[in-house]
Amino acid sequence: MNLKTLNIHAGHNFNVSGADGYFSETTESRNVKNAVISKLQSLDYKVYDCTDDSGKTQNENLKNIVSKCNDHAADLNISIHFNASNGQGHGVEVLQYSDKTQAITQNICNAIAELGFKNRGVKERTDLYVLKKTKAPAILIECCFCDSAIDAGLYNCESMANAIVKGLTGEVKEIVQPQPAPAPTPTPKPSGDDWIRCLQIELNNQLGKDLVVDGIKGPKTLNACPTVKKGAKGGITKLIQERLNSVGFNISVDGIFGENTKKAVKVFQKNRGLTEDGIVGPKTWEWLLKGTKI
Ligand SMILES: [Zn+2]
Repeated sequence: MNLKTLNIHAGHNFNVSGADGYFSETTESRNVKNAVISKLQSLDYKVYDCTDDSGKTQNENLKNIVSKCNDHAADLNISIHFNASNGQGHGVEVLQYSDKTQAITQNICNAIAELGFKNRGVKERTDLYVLKKTKAPAILIECCFCDSAIDAGLYNCESMANAIVKGLTGEVKEIVQPQPAPAPTPTPKPSGDDWIRCLQIELNNQLGKDLVVDGIKGPKTLNACPTVKKGAKGGITKLIQERLNSVGFNISVDGIFGENTKKAVKVFQKNRGLTEDGIVGPKTWEWLLKGTKI
């Protein structure tokens, strides 16, 4: 059987709805039908959607489906349904009017069973209206049981549609959904300046200040900074040395305010129009807190 043009429809409609259970047959048969159509179209099959959403009675629904199917010269009519039997049955079965479609129905049944559903096999049904009244050969897929906990646990629209397309065409058409770009992982970047944060901790610990450790160069932090000159030793001197290096100097960070540190401070002051005394007082601190290069 050479398939090029296909009629496909979902069973029932919301006026005369199908079975219900763990999910709605009416809804899911439409979801599967839509997925199958888009997969077949991307494989270059001509596909007509013969679903009827307007029939007010079951007979009207069936007649409308058949009339839509017979409007097109299709090679096969495919009806998508889900089964139900008070929670007692489970698995896939495919119904056909005659064994003309045996190869296709068997393939579809097997492909769905590969997803884990019980393979209930292909059944010949000459009494079903849609199978009987459509011109082209017709098949009806009972994908699985919507009122079975086993089947509901296995069921997934995308894999069901893939199995049907695989059974029909021998091909699998994964529709790649465009994935939204992953949200950039927010870097926990605290506001403020890490060096100022360290300085604030040091001022609190060494000089008993009570600064908020926020890394922000506010007047409280500036006022808390002591005058530091040659001969000083410790964490605050070390921080001064680090800051000098970060704006372009290259002195050893040893926490000892020696000659080299003093020279560096003088150059730092000169470059910023400050008095070149080599002593880190309020004006020099102000520039250190800014931390900007020249
Ligand atoms: Zn049904």
